[in-house]
Amino acid sequence: MKNRPYYGDKLLLVTIDGPAGAGKTTVSKILAERLGYKYIDTGALYRGVAYEAQKAGVASDDDAGLEKLCSALDFKFARDEKGLRLFSNGADITGEIRTPGISMLASAVSARPVVRKCLFAIQKELGKEKGAVFEGRDMGTVVFPEAEVKFYLDASAKTRAERRFKELADKKGSPTVAEIERDIKLRDTNDSSRSLAPLKPAEDAVIIDSTGLDIEAVVNVMLSHIKKRVF
Ligand code: C5P
Repeated sequence: MKNRPYYGDKLLLVTIDGPAGAGKTTVSKILAERLGYKYIDTGALYRGVAYEAQKAGVASDDDAGLEKLCSALDFKFARDEKGLRLFSNGADITGEIRTPGISMLASAVSARPVVRKCLFAIQKELGKEKGAVFEGRDMGTVVFPEAEVKFYLDASAKTRAERRFKELADKKGSPTVAEIERDIKLRDTNDSSRSLAPLKPAEDAVIIDSTGLDIEAVVNVMLSHIKKRVF
């Protein structure tokens, strides 16, 4: 663990939830870096299940098939100079899970209780060691209700679509802003209307609307809240 000159020695569990494209990933990575904490992207786990299900020909509503698939999962995170990578049964699937198709499929499988149960256990295991920033949809509400600092990061659907577009812009055949906005809204509806672990802020979460804020400003707001918990 790196030095934490400004944030003391108390190791916290920090959760960042919010809808797709709100900037959670960028902000979580920077925050973890500044704090000397590890960063865990739990969306990657749902994407990993979606990817493996697609590969195995298991439909997103086939609970028995998903349960069998999940019981055989072997996910590992590794860090290298390019960032956080996800390995499934030893194979690096980091690139494969970042397609629009896998985004939608991840949203569908994430509504299945068998999938959430299996990933809940994996996430709890990862959270045993404190000094971590967990990014997802239900980190502060369901997986780590005990977390010391919880954030809910939001932004308007249009802003979120524009940010996603910028990330994809130089990739061949990338969708338009309007198409991304439509997908984002669909995923928002799926994620917040499901009965199990719906997307919503924890009661004790600090809600940040990043529509008019840049990354640095969001990180600074978060750090000032974290400082209050440390000192
Ligand atoms: O964060 P990301 O967009 O990669 O997440 C992909 C999908 O995984 C989300 O749309 C959501 O349906 C699901 N997810 C979830 N709970 C989490 C993280 C992600 O349901 N903690």
